[in-house]
Amino acid sequence: MGYLPLATSAYNLGQIAGENAAGGNAKYDPIVKNISVRIFDKYFTSVGLSSAEASQNGYEIEEAFAKARNLVTVMPNSDFVLGKVIADKVSERILGASFIGGKEVSGYADLLSALIKLKAPASTLSKINYNYTPPLSPFIHLLTIIGKNFNK
Ligand SMILES: Cc1cc2nc3c(=O)[nH]c(=O)nc-3n(C[C@H](O)[C@H](O)[C@H](O)COP(=O)(O)OP(=O)(O)OC[C@H]3O[C@@H](n4cnc5c(N)ncnc54)[C@H](O)[C@@H]3O)c2cc1C
Repeated sequence: MGYLPLATSAYNLGQIAGENAAGGNAKYDPIVKNISVRIFDKYFTSVGLSSAEASQNGYEIEEAFAKARNLVTVMPNSDFVLGKVIADKVSERILGASFIGGKEVSGYADLLSALIKLKAPASTLSKINYNYTPPLSPFIHLLTIIGKNFNK
């Protein structure tokens, strides 16, 4: 639904152009926007539509927020990560999300990118069995909490 001048889309478009130049008939499958930036020692990711973009495209949206640990509290480097997920009020489909925290936000955005592509409802977030092991992940995942906040 928009112009996305990023390396990921350039790579995919280049492959399609090459295949078609060699006689193929490849088509470009729409992609979900998935961007991130570093802000001092934090990382911000935005995936899919923002609240403003969703409203501009005629969606009536619902939003759920949460703040959680990226690792269990006792682990070194445990810190907070904040997230917001937006969904279409009618179909309950996830439309977009944003996260701010440590490097884990890239993985959260990739998971949301897949769920948006698969047109999953927001309730899916609380039904996923997230990986948990103290050095890598939290006991209760931010996305579980956000999924439950949608069901309230
Ligand atoms: C500072 C910066 C940070 C970025 N960070 C990210 C990021 O984190 N993630 C992300 O996904 N994207 C990022 N991007 C965007 C990404 O780099 C571009 O979207 C991507 O490189 C575009 O690829 P391209 O092949 O279309 O063009 P380019 O990579 O610009 O390649 C075009 C090539 O064509 C050559 N060329 C131009 N004119 C001619 C000519 N007449 N004859 C022969 N050769 C020519 C150029 O020299 C160049 O090598 C960033 C861009 C910048 C500038």
